[in-house]
Parts: sequence; structure tokens; C-alpha cells
Amino acid sequence: MLHRRRFLQMGSLGLTSFSFLSFKNAASAIRKPIVISTWDAGINANKGAWKVLRSGGRALDAVEQGVMVTEAEQSCCVGLGANPDREGIVTLDACIMDEYFNCGGVAALERIKHPISVARRVMEKTPHVLLVGEGAQQFAVAEGFPLEEQKLSEDAEKSYKEWLKKSEYKPIINVERSKGQNAFVPNKLPNGAWNHDTIGMVAMDADGNLSGSCTTSGMGFKMRGRVGDSPIIGAGLYVDNEVGAATATGQGEDVIRIAGSHLVVEFMRQGIAPEAACKKAVERIIKIKGEKAKEIQVGFIAINKQGEYGGYCIQKGFNFAVCYGDDHNELIDGKYILPPTPKGG
Ligand code: ASP
Repeated sequence: MLHRRRFLQMGSLGLTSFSFLSFKNAASAIRKPIVISTWDAGINANKGAWKVLRSGGRALDAVEQGVMVTEAEQSCCVGLGANPDREGIVTLDACIMDEYFNCGGVAALERIKHPISVARRVMEKTPHVLLVGEGAQQFAVAEGFPLEEQKLSEDAEKSYKEWLKKSEYKPIINVERSKGQNAFVPNKLPNGAWNHDTIGMVAMDADGNLSGSCTTSGMGFKMRGRVGDSPIIGAGLYVDNEVGAATATGQGEDVIRIAGSHLVVEFMRQGIAPEAACKKAVERIIKIKGEKAKEIQVGFIAINKQGEYGGYCIQKGFNFAVCYGDDHNELIDGKYILPPTPKGG
């Protein structure tokens, strides 16, 4: 079964099974290159990253190319097709970090299709780490990024109209397809609205260098000006090339509170494996939130320098995609801590 699935995935990637890189690494215990990313959109995003990694490219290029796939899909809560804020305007947050502690981010960016690439330009072309709002847009335009039309996608418009009926801000716990379901089924709320989501990606290239990226429209119907964890280095993403890399998704405020991705990397620095490190960060949030933890979702994913990977979340419904070896690209259900809430409860 496993072999058949691997064969199918290799076919869908359009790649040969015996890549140069797998031979190159056969003698090594380190699993590289490798890329992992959040949610089921991560399967397609990984394919974008893998094209770079399998040809010996840099992890930084891979994590940019990878999440650009999701930004262009406009099919969940990433990119310009996503849910708007309370004023009906889509605002995007993103950040990127390389193996040298270089990092860049944009927050509350409007009308730009690929915020992750603007984040990379902030990193490479400015003395700053984070540009926001109008200034971020000005910078993007000056860098040659086209200004897209200010218009909601059909789905976002539908869900915004639905939301306006009550106009209440209530994050809804995201649940996605589980392993084994192969078709890409974007997650929607019962009223047809998109749920919150983010694509966070971390990768190690054939040279053993790490990088990460994170991009989102943030929580749907957020207050105007709200910024989540995703563009904040240390919260939504962190990379330490000596140790490992981690990224987060879910309720951003609670990720920021514990400097989540940085915390996961620090746990790995103590020798804790990626999955257990993610679990410890989730436990920290649950401890702080107490009873209220069951109202939210947060998930972390991480890799270390050995190419070990893992993820953990507060409650059932989180998944992540991992790609390595002979073009093996797999969706994995995240382990969770809180028991599922009984139906109707
Ligand atoms: N972390 C994102 C935010 O708070 C949302 C998400 O990942 O679902 O903006």
C-alpha cells in the first residue's frame, strides 16, 4: 500500500524515483533535503519547494517558491482570494528567514499577490525586518510588484456577506481532511465561508542549510489593523541553522504570547526531538489558556538538523505535509492534546 501510494505521488510530481540527491545522501544518516508545511495545502506547496530542493537548490529559494504556490491558489486563507477583515479588505501577513538569521516580513499588506516575495525583498534590500500597511505596499510597488485590483474573490464575498449578518468575531477551530483522502478539498465552514488558515513551511537543503517561510491572510473578519503571529519572526516562524526550524498556525495571539516558533527551536536546542518540542510548546499554550484552550487551535511543525520532523496541535483536525527522499510527499495528521469535544457540546 505504502509503495503504491509513493509511486502515485512520485508520478504526480513528475519526477524520477532515483534522484541524484537520494544517492548522494544514501550513506548519511541525515535526511536531506526535506520540506514540511502546514495543512493539506502543504502537499502542493511542497511540490513547488521540492523542484528547488531536488535539483540541489537553496532552502531559502525552496520555501519562497513553495508557499507562492499556495498564495497563487487563492483557495484557502492565504493570498488575495482569502477572507477580508471587518471592513471587507483583504490584508496579508508573511515572513521569511534564512540560514544566516537574515529575516524579513510584511504585515497588513494589501493588493499584492505574493507577500512572501515582498518579505524576502525586505530581508535582502532594506535594513529592516518588518514593513507594514501602506509603507509595505509602497515598497512592494517600488520593487516592481504589480498592484492587483481591490476585489474580493467570489467565495470571500459570499462569506463576508454571511459574516456581516451577525458581525461577531469568533474564531472557528479549523478541521481538515485526514491522511488517505487524496483530492484537495479546501476546508469550508457550514455556511460556505472559508476558515482561517496559514501556510508555514520549513526546509533543509542538500547542503544541510535551513530556511522557513510563513504567509496568510490572518484570521477572517479580524479587526482592521490586526496582525497575527505569521509575519513575526520568533512567533510564526523561526530558524536557527545550528539547531532546527519551526513554524506555527492557528490563533496567532496565543502563538505570539509564547514566542511559539522560537520556543520550539529552543526546545530542540536542548536535544528534544521536533515532535516533542512542538508538543511542549502546545502544552505551554494550554497551561496559559486553561479552560479556554478548547476554544482555539494552534499547531506547530518543526525539523531539526538531522532531518527529523514532527508536528503537534491543541486539538484534532490539524495536518501537515512532508516531502523527502524519493519524492515522497505525504500528508500527516497532527497529534493533538485535548480530547475531541462531544458532538453538540
Ligand atoms: N496564525 C494565523 C493568524 O493568527 C491564522 C492561522 O494560521 O490560521 O493570523
